[in-house]
Amino acid sequence: LVELTHVEKHFGDLHVLKDINLTVNKGEVLVVVGPSGSGKSTMCRTINRLETIDSGDIRIDGKALPQEGRELANLRAEVGMVFQSFNLFANKTILDNVTLAPIKVRHMDRKEAEKLAMDLLARVGVDSQANKMPSQLSGGQQQRVAIARALAMRPKVMLFDEPTSALDPEMVNEVLDVMVELAHEGMTMICVTHEMGFARKAADRIVFMANGQILEENTPDEFFDHPKTERAKDFLSKIL
Ligand code: ATP
Ligand code: MG
Repeated sequence: LVELTHVEKHFGDLHVLKDINLTVNKGEVLVVVGPSGSGKSTMCRTINRLETIDSGDIRIDGKALPQEGRELANLRAEVGMVFQSFNLFANKTILDNVTLAPIKVRHMDRKEAEKLAMDLLARVGVDSQANKMPSQLSGGQQQRVAIARALAMRPKVMLFDEPTSALDPEMVNEVLDVMVELAHEGMTMICVTHEMGFARKAADRIVFMANGQILEENTPDEFFDHPKTERAKDFLSKIL
């Protein structure tokens, strides 16, 4: 479903992505781990073209990433993204946050969009907050709204970039639980996270990045119990 082939990316002199080759199949949950600055966020951002690449190829459902315009907007609609910061529209209600894109991009009528939004908000457990403003919600609740908002576009794949790392500890699990549930429902997911419990429980495959390269790609059990590279052993010894 998502295919990166020989992807290269520089920021000036900094070589941030080095020959990245990665395939994520439909329904698969890929967890990306690695030290800070290794290029995990940059890789995620190239997949919905928030970052351009220097060379290589990225395909979603067999189609190359469009350069601009309506086609790019359509692609972004198919790739849901949830970031570390809760980037909800601060001046819109929770309900409006979720209905906005389906109405604008998918041309859904308001009634239908609101029904869909309420269903999704219920699924992530925040439907009772629908008429509040984002600032009235806890971080964990806001992040669950962000997930509902991404799901409202019926994406083919969901990207999560450290969605829990800005949360107070007691709110981490309420967001991870929603992610585990999505994974079990068969959503294709790419998750950058430091939550190793989640990685073990939900991942089909772990990708370990360091220094702009994918150094290991393995099942969670193999990766955690028998890391192959010194770099991964060192990383795991620091976080586990
Ligand atoms: P973290 O775990 O801290 O989130 P990461 O693996 O997500 O790290 P990236 O954010 O992808 O790492 O950054 C990779 C490298 O690229 C870092 O050295 C970072 O400083 C650099 N970088 C990221 N974005 C930019 C940018 N827009 N301009 C210049 N350099 C950047
Ligand atoms: Mg990052």
